[in-house]
Amino acid sequence: MNKVLHLKSRPNGLPKATDFEIIEQQIPVNNLGELLLKSIYISVDPYLRGKMSKTYSPPFELNEPVASKVVARVIDSKNESFTAGDYVIGYLNWAEYQLSNGTGLSKIDNHDASLSAYLGVLGTTGLSAYFALLDIGKPKPGDTLVVSGAAGAVGSIAGQIGKISGCRVIGIAGTDEKTELLKSKFGFDDAINYKTTPDINAAIKAVCPNGVDVYFDNVGGEISDAVINNLNNNARIAVCGSISNYNDTETQIGPRLLPLVVYKRLSIRGFLIADYADKFTEGVSQLTAWLKDGKLTYSETVMEGFDQLPEAFIGLFEGRNEGKMIVKV
Ligand code: NAP
Repeated sequence: MNKVLHLKSRPNGLPKATDFEIIEQQIPVNNLGELLLKSIYISVDPYLRGKMSKTYSPPFELNEPVASKVVARVIDSKNESFTAGDYVIGYLNWAEYQLSNGTGLSKIDNHDASLSAYLGVLGTTGLSAYFALLDIGKPKPGDTLVVSGAAGAVGSIAGQIGKISGCRVIGIAGTDEKTELLKSKFGFDDAINYKTTPDINAAIKAVCPNGVDVYFDNVGGEISDAVINNLNNNARIAVCGSISNYNDTETQIGPRLLPLVVYKRLSIRGFLIADYADKFTEGVSQLTAWLKDGKLTYSETVMEGFDQLPEAFIGLFEGRNEGKMIVKV
């Protein structure tokens, strides 16, 4: 039998396990020209929360599979471009087994990196850190870089690329274990636990006495208000995401920061990683070289078993991951 995970109801606020349903079906029969794939690693990502709401375009449909980046093995191939035993990555359904005509699938191997790395450090999250920090953040030696969501998949890589670029790097994360990890494993110069720090604005001022030149923002909300308050003239903000708002049921109202943008000549730019698609080969090859040289390292939180998908996804909003959250099927 095959398991497929459907969206059963649109989450209201924080997603619940009951918003999802695992359906048991027969393993699909492979037809001419198609591939039968078996999922090995499934990526759970904060942006999927948006696709579970009706307002996102296009949203996931109710009683249809959720989908994301998946590493799979070809079990049977009637498509001449692939052979049984190939490993592939693509945007696929949350299913143990599925058919594909091969469109959008790329072959990967585990010679240069583990297969799961293609969902993290060598995938969308590593590439987001690489392109957004270098292209939008424009870090220079001697700059002070602050990264929010610093112990997550994007943040942990962005901070290390900041170090490679010669910056002093400060991370913001939600537990003492994470702030320790940022310093001991990822080489951050200092870190702030936003959940135990009553005045984040003062804490940033204390660890960044010369102000902040680059802000890599994964979380938005009050953390970003505090960092923006501490930016220097001509500072750059790479806006990667706003996870602190993804479960909001009402629009948050914060301080009006635009006068600061004028006064301090700030540059704020958002991006979607797909904007850099024509440069992915360059990004993967640089990230791979840094991994091989020992200049870059990464963490993964791997939850075991297809049935863990809802918990792994909900866990992103509760900070249960260090580095990339992945489900091993
Ligand atoms: P991640 O950081 O690995 O996981 C999410 C982390 O967010 C959690 O571990 C948690 O860590 C933190 N978090 C959850 N709720 C929070 C809150 N209310 N306030 C502050 N922190 C909170 O996820 P990721 O895949 O690397 O994604 C990071 C951000 O980048 C997300 O906003 C995502 O949407 C965005 N993103 C954007 C693009 C793009 O193309 N623009 C591509 C990839 C990702 P703590 O324990 O520290 O709270």
